[in-house]
Amino acid sequence: MGSQNIKNNLWHSLEVNEIFKLLNSDIKGLTTEKASSILEEHGFNKLPQGKKISLLNIIFHQLLNPLIFILIAAAIASVLIGEAKDAIFILLVILINSILGTYQEYNAEKSASALQNLLKIKSLVKRDHKIIEIDSENIVIGDIVYLESGAKIPADLRLIDTRNLEIDESFLTGESLSAIKGTKILNQDMALQERSNMAYAGATVMSGRGMGIVVATGIHTEVGKIAKNVSTGESAKAPLILRMEKFTKRISIFIIGLSIILAVFLRMQGLDFTSIFFFVVALAVSAIPEGLPVALTVALSIATKRMAKRNVIVRKLTSVESLGSCTVIASDKTGTLTVNQQTAKKVVLPDKSSFQVSGEGYNGEGFVSDENSHQKITHQQHQGLHQLALIGCLANEAELSQFNGEWKHQGDAMDVAFLGLAYKLKIDIEALKDDNLIIDKIAYESELKYAAAFYRKDDQIFIGMKGAVETLLDYCEYQQENGVKQPINTSSILKQTEELASQGYRVLAVANGKCSNYQSKNNYNKDDIPPLTLLGLVCFIDPLRKESKESIEICKKAGIKVIMITGDHPETANAISKELGINSSTGMIVTGDMLTNAGKNTGKAYQKLVLNASVFARVSPIQKLEIVEVLINNGEFVAVTGDGVNDAPALKRANLGVAMGSGTDVAKEVGNMIVVDDNFSSIVAGVEEGRFAYDNVRKVIFLLISTGAAEVILFILSILFGLPLPLLAVQLLWLNLVTNGIQDVALAFEAGEKGAMQKKPRSPKEMIFNKTMISQILVSSFTIGIIVFGLWFTLINYSSLSEASSRNLILLLMVFMQNFHALNSRSEVTSAFKIPIKSNVILIVGIMGAQAIHVLSMHLPFMQDILRTEPVNITTWTTVLLLAVPIIIVMESYKAIKNRFYKNI
Ligand code: ADP
Ligand code: MG
Repeated sequence: MGSQNIKNNLWHSLEVNEIFKLLNSDIKGLTTEKASSILEEHGFNKLPQGKKISLLNIIFHQLLNPLIFILIAAAIASVLIGEAKDAIFILLVILINSILGTYQEYNAEKSASALQNLLKIKSLVKRDHKIIEIDSENIVIGDIVYLESGAKIPADLRLIDTRNLEIDESFLTGESLSAIKGTKILNQDMALQERSNMAYAGATVMSGRGMGIVVATGIHTEVGKIAKNVSTGESAKAPLILRMEKFTKRISIFIIGLSIILAVFLRMQGLDFTSIFFFVVALAVSAIPEGLPVALTVALSIATKRMAKRNVIVRKLTSVESLGSCTVIASDKTGTLTVNQQTAKKVVLPDKSSFQVSGEGYNGEGFVSDENSHQKITHQQHQGLHQLALIGCLANEAELSQFNGEWKHQGDAMDVAFLGLAYKLKIDIEALKDDNLIIDKIAYESELKYAAAFYRKDDQIFIGMKGAVETLLDYCEYQQENGVKQPINTSSILKQTEELASQGYRVLAVANGKCSNYQSKNNYNKDDIPPLTLLGLVCFIDPLRKESKESIEICKKAGIKVIMITGDHPETANAISKELGINSSTGMIVTGDMLTNAGKNTGKAYQKLVLNASVFARVSPIQKLEIVEVLINNGEFVAVTGDGVNDAPALKRANLGVAMGSGTDVAKEVGNMIVVDDNFSSIVAGVEEGRFAYDNVRKVIFLLISTGAAEVILFILSILFGLPLPLLAVQLLWLNLVTNGIQDVALAFEAGEKGAMQKKPRSPKEMIFNKTMISQILVSSFTIGIIVFGLWFTLINYSSLSEASSRNLILLLMVFMQNFHALNSRSEVTSAFKIPIKSNVILIVGIMGAQAIHVLSMHLPFMQDILRTEPVNITTWTTVLLLAVPIIIVMESYKAIKNRFYKNI
């Protein structure tokens, strides 16, 4: 492969046959064996990844934290005053915290990149004479690749065959219009943007179809040469985490400020410097919620994992928190609410004769029979049916075939259904694959609403077309009745279509025509369509997904409006929406034409149409975008589904772009999330998980902030009352370790609460620190702070216990209080006693473990030494335990009162 032309990258100036020779390939593609040996030699077809977050990075991240600096200063100070043990303990706590944090963050990072793997781009290539889908990474030089609209070009290709192929390569050439591609050989000196017979990796197919041979992969592609480092860009932190990092920083600054003021105050009271220093350390340890960002990272990571299990892959972490705010889901019909298993059920010819089609699903099993006589019919027996079914196979891009009794299919569901119909009429489909038969095709695109094929018959060129009835009628001048061309009766056909559609059928028309003037050409397009003759109507059934109806019901309870947007006939849409229970108050179906007539989407008329409707039919992708805009401008938080290239603008504009798993690369690239199974119910599951995740995030924050605040309150009260510090710095560190070390993160694992989908969507503007949060924090932190202070006050003033022994009891009480409080934090509304233990085993085990470790620390000599703890007898232990019970009683009462209050309004 040392050819000069390859080196100079002049593929555009070579004959395709020459390229085949140079690359040791041909039109039949490579064998799997050959491809894997090339892969071994040249490596994967991918660009070097942007730098990944390394373990070292994560560890470093744990240490880069104001609290750590304070603690290190405290450790040094401890050594200076001769308390080396304290220093070791402090360093140990730093170590344990960092290990816990690193472990959690590393895990979160790992599962995020595992999800990225699920998002690998795939391509259609020819291997072993068959068209198959493979990971684009595995594409090698010499592979034959197929392109269709919406696809991302996987490698640099020399095009061999194109059909109205248009490619957006603006990222390479800066050219904003998409480039029209062909296969003509070009001069050597053509610039990159002029090489119309090449398709470059990273560009996207805007419309049409194409086929080409891979001439460069990975870093050898044009984009590979300019972009040595393409960052994945997806590991950006969620805004929630950024906000919380900022919040932690702000608290830290606030605490340092407060400490300085209190230090001056304490100094004036005559306290020595060492004590003041350790007081400041203690305050920092208690008040800075250093575990918050990590715990939230974990919470979001768990949420994405749970969503993935329910077939929703979140591409941008932002979506996790915003999913819960979704107020409108604007869904596609076909494939999302229905299974997209189209089956032809009925054929109606212009002479009004009608035929039934039996059978189900993607196969050719079943037969066609006359609706009146019930006699089975094959294509030989009926010229009209024969022609109609034939065109259905020609204007078609799918494959359906039978191997050893097993049916295999590939391609568009409508197309497969047409092939199934032809099989049922016993048409020889293999014979239609003759290379000489079809000259050109106009491939189906959703805004065209039809597909066409130009084919040869008896030395003349004909066109066959299938598609939406109204669209085809625009081209039809005649209708075929018993082999005779008659003038078309448009209104009667339209009426018939409406009638069939209102029974829930998806109705397509089939037509043909002769374009004899164009015999010498090889390329045909829309301008070559002659007046057509309508051959008949075919009615398809696409069953509803069985979960759809229930999911729509769930949405209603959750205050989410469901809207159906379809390119299908209004009557079909109407029938299906009724069956699903999607209906607006007016019951009106809004069509694309009505929207066009209503003028601009910023106008009143347009807005009124959109806001009052739930079902939109014969809508173009641009109108989909307009509808989304209207909804957003009216304060809705909109999730919209999409799969095609043309859906990209709507997906981008929506608050949540939901790409279908079966959709195009472009849609997946701009969507915030991908629904693997295309299923509407999965979107609803995603919303539910989003709500759970948001609730859990609040629980984590609540526990951390309220326990920190309780400690601060205890300290400030002690200072105000002139008492010694109730806990030593090492004791506080210990306390935080055994009460927040696992518990905060464990709350992120809390199973969802039942009521989550019975609430109205949360306003996207709502702050985490809303009224509920703030009042809960105040109530609980004052309860803990005051009770513990009360004990401290009593012990110091009215008991004979030494200060050290009193601290021992205070520490024990705090451990009880905070662990009880972790149980309170499990729900903002539900009683802690009503939440099953099994919905968060980790938390329960964590709490029991913490209690056990603390008891141990009161008995082990070296721990006693460091923590200044001592054993207590069972009576004392029980008394202290009972003193902690009020935090449960108070929070239970708080929830009960709040629930009652809400129920009354
Ligand atoms: P939906 O919103 O239900 O997915 P589409 O946009 O896919 O609807 O289809 C719109 C219309 O285009 C259909 O009602 C049908 O008349 C026509 N159509 C769909 N698929 C094909 C196809 N493969 N070939 C020809 N026409 C098609
Ligand atoms: Mg569709």
